[in-house]
Amino acid sequence: MAINENLVQEIVQEVMAKLQIADSSSGKHGIFKDMNDAIEAAKKADAVVRRMSMDQREKIITVIRRKIKENAEVLARMGVEETGMGNVGDKILKHHLVADNTPGTEDITTTAWSGDRGLTLIEMGPFGVIGAITPSTNPSETVLCNTIGMVAGGNTVVFNPHPSATKTTIYAINLVNEASLEAGGPDNIACTVEKPTMETSNIMMKHKDIPLIVATGGPGVVTAVLSSGKRGIGAGAGNPPALVDETADVEKAARDIVNGCTFDNNLPCIAEKEIVAVSSICDELMHYLVNDNDCYLASREEQDKLTEVVLAGGKLNRKCVGRDARTLLSMIGVTAPANIRCIVFEGPKEHPLIATELMMPILGVVRAKDFDDAVEQAVWLEHGNRHSAHIHSKNVDNITKYARAIDTAILVKNGPSYAALGFGGEGYCTFTIASRTGEGLTSASTFTKRRRCVMSDSLCIR
Ligand code: NAD
Repeated sequence: MAINENLVQEIVQEVMAKLQIADSSSGKHGIFKDMNDAIEAAKKADAVVRRMSMDQREKIITVIRRKIKENAEVLARMGVEETGMGNVGDKILKHHLVADNTPGTEDITTTAWSGDRGLTLIEMGPFGVIGAITPSTNPSETVLCNTIGMVAGGNTVVFNPHPSATKTTIYAINLVNEASLEAGGPDNIACTVEKPTMETSNIMMKHKDIPLIVATGGPGVVTAVLSSGKRGIGAGAGNPPALVDETADVEKAARDIVNGCTFDNNLPCIAEKEIVAVSSICDELMHYLVNDNDCYLASREEQDKLTEVVLAGGKLNRKCVGRDARTLLSMIGVTAPANIRCIVFEGPKEHPLIATELMMPILGVVRAKDFDDAVEQAVWLEHGNRHSAHIHSKNVDNITKYARAIDTAILVKNGPSYAALGFGGEGYCTFTIASRTGEGLTSASTFTKRRRCVMSDSLCIR
């Protein structure tokens, strides 16, 4: 009787998985003391994952999605508690977004040319063990979203997370490994170390078994990754301006901008960080911001006090990042009404609270004399990050002009910034937007190598 090798392999994997589950009562899959051990374990898992059928990879991803939903609140609370940033309600929504909208194996496609000289395919193959560096601002969201995409592409991943989000990251990594085991896959599809540091990051970046590094964070980490001598995908900082011109529905623009800006206390890198408004509608916009959208209008004196606290000693005060507007106001001795969601003021583009990427609900409004001036100021404020920008306008010529001038990976028109993440907008979700290296919104296919497979003079049956 012929032996069905696939069936045997599946049974072996299932038994191995059950043994591993039984052996892991600590509940911490994928967590190691030493970065070299984490990479070694991910490499062993990679040997299994790269041989898996697409169907098997998708089974793991399906369980990951389910577990994210089951744990969305735990992860959200843990993230807020550990980092002190963001808010639980919005973080729950972000986890559901990751579970529902992150592309899986359907993103891995084949291109084919068939003709007189045969058949040629371009297939997407795995890199192997990917090294990923993740930010404190969306800690578990990034880990979970990256893992889904990387495993869909046939890879495994080793994370070096931000030290201030270690606990939350470990919880998320344990979760994806439990999902893999439950679906009959290997343990350690995602790994990390108990105490991530710059040293563990360096070990990862230099390791011979890491062919690709994906960095999500500020300018420092992206530059470090791009200097590593390895292939790097760099998802760096932004400072997205929201431009409002004279043709916009100003009332809706105010609502959309405040909704986008205050989502998770302004932590998403795509969120509106400042407004540039054409002078003819600037006062009307400010009216809607303050009177209809729960914004607090800060006086000159309060702006100065905020600058002193938020940019203490000229450096971004991490204790202010991701805090809500009332907490920020309380730091300068202002007790704001309970409904206040955002702090606004009018100022020049050079104002430190406007020019700096703050990641908190403070929205400076820059007045522009006309549309061209608004574009010029918005481009200046984006600092060449080529990350995200937003516009509220009914004039397609204006929108086109702005899009060409600002040249960002994301441009949301007439909606809140989070529409770019597939939240109230079309398209898939990611928390790694490769602004610096040009891949844009990453997905499973971003984490694959293109291979050309050529059959000469055959297999064309037309
Ligand atoms: P951060 O730059 O302080 O840290 C990000 C990660 O990089 C952390 O894991 C940190 O430990 C590591 N790191 C920092 N400097 C490093 C270096 N020189 N070498 C190696 N590793 C280093 O960022 P953060 O405060 O955690 O996150 C906020 C920043 O990340 C903002 O600038 C935001 O715009 C950006 N961000 C970008 C995206 C994107 O998709 N483009 C997504 C989220 C956050």
